[in-house]
Amino acid sequence: MYNAAEMSIIVQKYGGSSVADVTKLKHVADRVMRTRREGHDVVVVVSAMGDTTDDLLDLARKVSPNPDRRELDMLLTAGERIAMALLSMAIRELGGESVSFTGSQSGIITNDRHADARIIEVRPVRVQDELARGRIVVIAGYQGMSYKREVTTLGRGGSDTTAVAMAAALGADYCEICSDVDGVYTADPRVVPAARRIGTLSYEETQELAESGAKVLNAQAVEFAKEKGIAIYARATTGPLPGPDPSADGTVVRKHPPRMPGTVVGVASEKDVIVIELRDGGAAPLLELLDRHRVSGKQLHAAGDRLTLVVSRENLHEEERVRTALASRFGDAVKVIDTLGATSVVGAGINASFENVRRGSAALTSAGIDSGAVATSSFRITWMIDRSRIQDAVRLLHRTFLEDQPPPVP
Ligand code: ADP
Ligand code: ASP
Ligand code: MG
Repeated sequence: MYNAAEMSIIVQKYGGSSVADVTKLKHVADRVMRTRREGHDVVVVVSAMGDTTDDLLDLARKVSPNPDRRELDMLLTAGERIAMALLSMAIRELGGESVSFTGSQSGIITNDRHADARIIEVRPVRVQDELARGRIVVIAGYQGMSYKREVTTLGRGGSDTTAVAMAAALGADYCEICSDVDGVYTADPRVVPAARRIGTLSYEETQELAESGAKVLNAQAVEFAKEKGIAIYARATTGPLPGPDPSADGTVVRKHPPRMPGTVVGVASEKDVIVIELRDGGAAPLLELLDRHRVSGKQLHAAGDRLTLVVSRENLHEEERVRTALASRFGDAVKVIDTLGATSVVGAGINASFENVRRGSAALTSAGIDSGAVATSSFRITWMIDRSRIQDAVRLLHRTFLEDQPPPVP
């Protein structure tokens, strides 16, 4: 009988860029085998190869500008299914015994919110049975099955969530998220060359970074990890396996004692957002309309009859239909702004005083970057700015908060 207490189980997740072609896929198979040879039980969660998900979405949009969400899920889950089968074959080629499973076969049960489903339960019986047989289990990320037995997907970047949920259900030692970058940086290293890898992060810091647009870890996955107390190791697929101190060459996300309150840990941005502004017409009917179209908001500000809402385009698949519905219900009272992006600085307690807001706003103004709206929470300051200036703003805020000695605040 399988006894999880005696085994050390490692869950590893490999992102799309790590399995973009056959050579990379073979490298991943080798890394999995090296982990196995260290004496662990290994469960591998894999994303669709390269840009497969984007390509499938493009294909869907060519057929329908408002693709049906259920059909979209049937289509998109195919991407991970291809990757899981090929990876399992590659592992077998190296002498490993492996078996691949879809999300539904792995026991990932979700709600029925197609294209953006939430995991409600994991019943990993088949995974456990295969581990007990000594096999490596390869799981298609980003997907599950609703309690109505329909295939669902977990929202963009959802393979991370599959991995963390599986790690929690199996009682894994940790969940490794392997990518083309060797951890979480103080900003996207592709945008800010001076960005530094952060050795250790708390769940809260990581969740805020992810929600602000740092793609390296999925926000829902971090939320799940926090809830279940799973340690996440963010690492490079091409780098070494975790040693005694995994924060030395990657990022460890777990419960951490708070940093010096007020420390900015990172800068993140999101370009692909739309802002919905309602002048009068009532917040309630607007929110009801958005819920009916499964649109989830990121930031909401309501005051009297005015409401402003930031919506990420990431999981918005029926934009045309939503825009038409908004126009016919609210007419001129509603405005959809498609020229802005969000730039945020993140850190626990950074808004204890207004010093950081003032410093960031002053830096943006002095660089001629107009920020129309600022929003704060206890972990974050977000400036809405012209989309074309987002990268400049990220570099500037990184310099201001993470490179320079703080200048006196004007
Ligand atoms: P995967 O395909 O492995 O899931 P993603 O593309 O989802 O990888 O995430 C990795 C990318 O996230 C990196 O290539 C990097 O450009 C980007 N990124 C954005 N913000 C950060 C950050 N703060 N730290 C590290 N990488 C970041
Ligand atoms: N393939 C999916 C996506 O591109 C899921 C993932 O990569 O995590 O969003
Ligand atoms: Mg990802």
